[in-house]
Amino acid sequence: MTDRYAVFGHPIAHSKSPLIHAAFARQTGQDMTYEAILAPKDGFADSVAQFIAAGGRGANVTVPFKEQAFALASRLSPRAEQAGAVNTLTFDAGSIRGDNTDGAGLVADLTRNLHCLPGGRRILLLGAGGAARGVIEPLLDLRPAEFVIANRTVSRAQELAEQFGRGVVACGFDALHTPFDIVINATAASLAGELPPLSPRVFATDALAYDMMYGRDTPFLGFARAHGAATADGLGMLVEQAAEAFYLWRGVRPDTAPVIAALRQDRLEGESPAASPPRGPRT
Ligand code: NDP
Repeated sequence: MTDRYAVFGHPIAHSKSPLIHAAFARQTGQDMTYEAILAPKDGFADSVAQFIAAGGRGANVTVPFKEQAFALASRLSPRAEQAGAVNTLTFDAGSIRGDNTDGAGLVADLTRNLHCLPGGRRILLLGAGGAARGVIEPLLDLRPAEFVIANRTVSRAQELAEQFGRGVVACGFDALHTPFDIVINATAASLAGELPPLSPRVFATDALAYDMMYGRDTPFLGFARAHGAATADGLGMLVEQAAEAFYLWRGVRPDTAPVIAALRQDRLEGESPAASPPRGPRT
């Protein structure tokens, strides 16, 4: 019987995940379907239960349900526990396993696709929300020389610095005056077309500026480019976190490069550029 997977979110119509997983399944010859499910904002757990009862084998979870998925899981991977959020569920013999593949997705995009190696480099992470939390531990594991978290609400950055330890420093945007080699925007500012109040001095010579938002040029990327940084959006992270989820479910690693290339050119099967939904930031 064909195995069923899905992504749960609210809203969900814009999600690229069904296209990405369909491409992975074709590429690797897996017999599976992957659909987008709009769960009611107050009915996430019920929607998941219905999907499991209908034979669902696993699911991705996106805004606003990642914390609810964390609470729903009967078992958590260490990286999900660290992140405090779950974006991948696996349903197996009555148990619900929760994992978080966002950090692995970012690290794969940085290191494999962008050839940017964080070891020994100075990293600045902007933001202290769910996306930021999920990538801290995997980035620290690459042993950067310096790791600073800056956030609009400084206390949230401080909480993360205390939680993760390992020399992580927290501050507000106005305290940033020194250069960094990798500047990652994990704030939701780009969603609103806004730029966090940054000094241009944060970009070292040859810095990489990475915006987790994808699908359109952002004020952050424009600002970084204007001050000499190389730039990348979060599309690669989106596909890489999906590949990690696919591997958890199917035990096979898809080749992400052709899927990223096809998405960039709006030519993944099932998508007509004219009918494309507005590009959104979510998985
Ligand atoms: P959250 O709502 O959990 O966190 C939002 C963060 O952004 C907080 O730190 C908040 O600061 C900060 N923020 C919001 N607005 C502004 C602003 N105008 N100026 C400065 N800081 C601001 O969001 P997520 O962490 O879930 O998502 C963050 C981004 O990452 C989104 O753009 C999302 O689309 C993207 N993302 C991309 C993924 C991918 O695969 N490419 C995966 C997951 C997320 P404060 O604490 O002060 O409120």
